[in-house]
Amino acid sequence: MRACPLCSTLCTIVPLTLVGIGLFAFAPFDQQTKTAPVQTATKEWTVHDRTRPQPAPVTVAACCAAPSDAKVLFGGADTSALQSGEGACKWTVANGELCIASGTGSIQTKDSFGSCQLHIEWMVPETCDCKDQHGCNSGIFFMGRYELQILGSNPNKTYVDGMAGAMYGQYPPLVNACKPNGQWNMYDVVFNAPKFNSGGALERAGSMTVFFNGVLVQNNSQIKGATAHAAKAAYSAHETQLPISIQDHGDPLHFRNIWIRPLAD
Ligand code: MG
Repeated sequence: MRACPLCSTLCTIVPLTLVGIGLFAFAPFDQQTKTAPVQTATKEWTVHDRTRPQPAPVTVAACCAAPSDAKVLFGGADTSALQSGEGACKWTVANGELCIASGTGSIQTKDSFGSCQLHIEWMVPETCDCKDQHGCNSGIFFMGRYELQILGSNPNKTYVDGMAGAMYGQYPPLVNACKPNGQWNMYDVVFNAPKFNSGGALERAGSMTVFFNGVLVQNNSQIKGATAHAAKAAYSAHETQLPISIQDHGDPLHFRNIWIRPLAD
């Protein structure tokens, strides 16, 4: 705190100013209008249209617990939102962490999702020996086919479009924000699902924006097609919503605090 030049009293000028700006920026113009979903459907609005639906209010939490309108996929104990094949999730839970049971296969969400905001935290145990693509590999497959790579990458040299924060085989991360093994990493992703026309042709490519430990590593990167290993990605038409899967690549990574907010297209 420091003395205020206007009133000669101690006050927190900067925080109060920021709060003021925040209140001004987010204050609803008309509390009587109805609220909207996370993302309103495409529509042309006039400037300052007072009938435009208000953004839905949410209760936010300390970093990085789920906000009030999120669906929790794993909060520390319950794995019922996840499954192995058609059955119960075979990965183990210990100390509030979801641990890959190597060899049991990838898991996927019971529910299907299209465009969404996803938060997930992951950790490579210190005992893991990362060598290139082996020892500490996993990944998040949006719609079961578009992989955001998870890989112990501090240190671990591999091809850059296969390191942590990469859209596998398509885009390296803008920077390497990975923490050393034994420490928790955090992804915050905005995934926009691709769109296909009724004939199955691609109408709009999918995209990902990714913050890795709070650092931007994918900036609206346009997805080139379903993830492929050592091959060019290509699209093939699919449903508008599909489960998200987390990869079992044979390595014992841990996960915690996984939540999702579906977005309207
Ligand atoms: Mg992977």
